[in-house]
Amino acid sequence: MKTYAIALIPGDGIGKEVVPAGRQVLEALARSRSDLHFEFEHFDWGADYYRRHAVMMPHDGLDRLRAKDAILFGSAGDPGLPDHITLWGLRLRICQGFDQYANVRPTRILPGIDAPLKRCSPEDLDWVIVRENSEGEYSGVGGRVHQGHPIEAAVDVSMMTRVGVQRILRFAFGLAQSRPRKQLTVVTKSNAQRHAMVMWDEIAHEVAEEFPDVRWDKELVDAMTARMVNKPDTLDTIVATNLHADILSDLAAALAGSLGIAPTANLDPQRRYPSMFEPIHGSAFDIMGKGLANPIGTFWSVVMMLEHLGENEAAQQVMRAIEAVTSDPSLHTGDLGGHATTAQVTDAVCRFILEPGRR
Ligand code: NAD
Ligand code: MN
Repeated sequence: MKTYAIALIPGDGIGKEVVPAGRQVLEALARSRSDLHFEFEHFDWGADYYRRHAVMMPHDGLDRLRAKDAILFGSAGDPGLPDHITLWGLRLRICQGFDQYANVRPTRILPGIDAPLKRCSPEDLDWVIVRENSEGEYSGVGGRVHQGHPIEAAVDVSMMTRVGVQRILRFAFGLAQSRPRKQLTVVTKSNAQRHAMVMWDEIAHEVAEEFPDVRWDKELVDAMTARMVNKPDTLDTIVATNLHADILSDLAAALAGSLGIAPTANLDPQRRYPSMFEPIHGSAFDIMGKGLANPIGTFWSVVMMLEHLGENEAAQQVMRAIEAVTSDPSLHTGDLGGHATTAQVTDAVCRFILEPGRR
């Protein structure tokens, strides 16, 4: 019997609805198998915590997470607080504090989902986007001076390091190599950004030589949006900078049917620190507190967590339950055009995990 220590950080908005749903799924999984056990610790960090303590998480927060095997995260973002406070104070503090430099975002059209690309079949879209998660446009380097005066100036520096670019490209080539098509697209913008992105391209050529069996190509980020829509079958594994991949992965999620389905993993591939798993969506102010959030993105994130822990059989068990549930339109939430609630979808996934033969 293996026991895993899981930190739960629901955060804000619908994070508070989907993370408890994710816990229910993990509990159902543990009940259905004799080889797995989870110990959960719940952390009430986020905007409500900020209103009491003027910080999103306590100063020793990282130390309290350090010994966990994994973190399941919801969302950071509150209608009453500026987004840069909530994002930097919680999610980015954990990502950067634990050097989770690889952000991995699989995209597939799950069975039963009506996706917007009418000219392609679901098999044409099977991607993994790798997002650089520690530097680039979101490195936090910059400043703002003379606020409110006509001479006010503000700078955000996109900082890229050879070490940072090399390690994310190595990770992406390695991931591409592990997938059947062994194919990688490196997204760039070296025509316009003529310093860091040129270095990015050069390092891509260098790293590619370490992976002779991976076919790879380069695409400018603007052209990439059109290629994702028009020729989805020409893509498999994709790697891009922090900002580029942030945008491309929301597009990918929409092309797969809904933001509510898409999962992501913030990985420390060297396993020095716990990795963090979360749906890619945010707090969803328009539906929060109503029990209408689609929990599938969180459940798929749980699958990625189990894969990272080496529990591949358990991961497949949860994925099969997810696919059984998406196949049934009466279990679709509002974002998928249905009327099901978070609780109904969660119960159905748990039921399938416990009794795959009977629904
Ligand atoms: P959002 O993802 O919260 O919402 C965009 C739209 O998608 C909304 O209409 C919402 O209702 C819908 N949606 C998202 N997830 C859904 C789900 N699971 N089920 C059903 N519908 C869903 O993005 P936003 O509006 O740009 O951001 C809202 C807040 O969330 C902001 O404060 C933002 O900073 C924050 N945010 C946080 C994260 C994060 O912590 N990782 C990510 C994105 C946004
Ligand atoms: Mn985003």
